Amino acid sequence: MNIKPVIDIQNLTVSYHRKPAIRSVNLKLTERGIIGIIGPNGAGKSTLLKAILGLVPIDNGTVKVFGEPVFKVRNKISYVPQKEIIDWDFPVTVYDVVMMGRYAHLGVIERPGPSDRDIVEAAIDKVGMNEYKNQQIGNLSGGQQQRVFLARALAQESEILLLDEPFVGVDAATEHAIIDLMHSLNDEGKMVVVVNHDLGKVQEYFQYLIMINQRLIAYGPTREVFKPDLLSKTYGGRLTILQKTEQLFGVAQ
Ligand code: ADP
Ligand code: MG
Repeated sequence: MNIKPVIDIQNLTVSYHRKPAIRSVNLKLTERGIIGIIGPNGAGKSTLLKAILGLVPIDNGTVKVFGEPVFKVRNKISYVPQKEIIDWDFPVTVYDVVMMGRYAHLGVIERPGPSDRDIVEAAIDKVGMNEYKNQQIGNLSGGQQQRVFLARALAQESEILLLDEPFVGVDAATEHAIIDLMHSLNDEGKMVVVVNHDLGKVQEYFQYLIMINQRLIAYGPTREVFKPDLLSKTYGGRLTILQKTEQLFGVAQ
């Protein structure tokens, strides 16, 4: 049986100032599961997400999403970057930010209608930010801001959700809210791809795992690839990480 990949990456190399950040990556994501991306700092995790979104120039190779070049299907993908670049002094409310998720569906001069407003309200409710709806986003905590960006991604009603380090700097309640959301989106048949650096939660959170260090080290079901040999290949045998894997796998030191 030939299952059509949702995301199909072939021989992908992306460089900044001629220095490759990811090299010759071949990756077909077929499963609509919750997929983690792990690798050390500077391994190219964020770059991989940006390449899927068409946000960085590609040196070599191809990226197809639903069999199309990404610019044709951009509104089927939503993205929460590692750090939002936003002018917090700009007077914008939680509601406004989430409504931005609807603009992908609207024509240039079309204004949001009642159904857009319903979708926005539902998304805000889903991330537990109802009582903050009319607050300025600049006044919120990091975790609350993260929930708002998640609500914006939800309001976009996309098929694929890409999250870059969503758990960094958030409280436990937000982390749980994000996990619940990932599961409910997954139950709706959406693909959720999450960059994450906390190895301790990998087995609990992700059904599939992409391990990268410039080159693709492994991709597969977490239970098959989350193994000491592949981890040490991914992290280059760095001592701290190895110690961490010993804790993870219960290997006596
Ligand atoms: P990760 O998300 O795994 O930490 P990144 O994809 O952000 O890694 O970065 C991969 C490499 O590319 C790093 O060496 C980083 O310094 C470099 N890099 C990332 N973005 C840029 C940029 N805009 N300009 C120049 N170099 C960059
Ligand atoms: Mg990154």
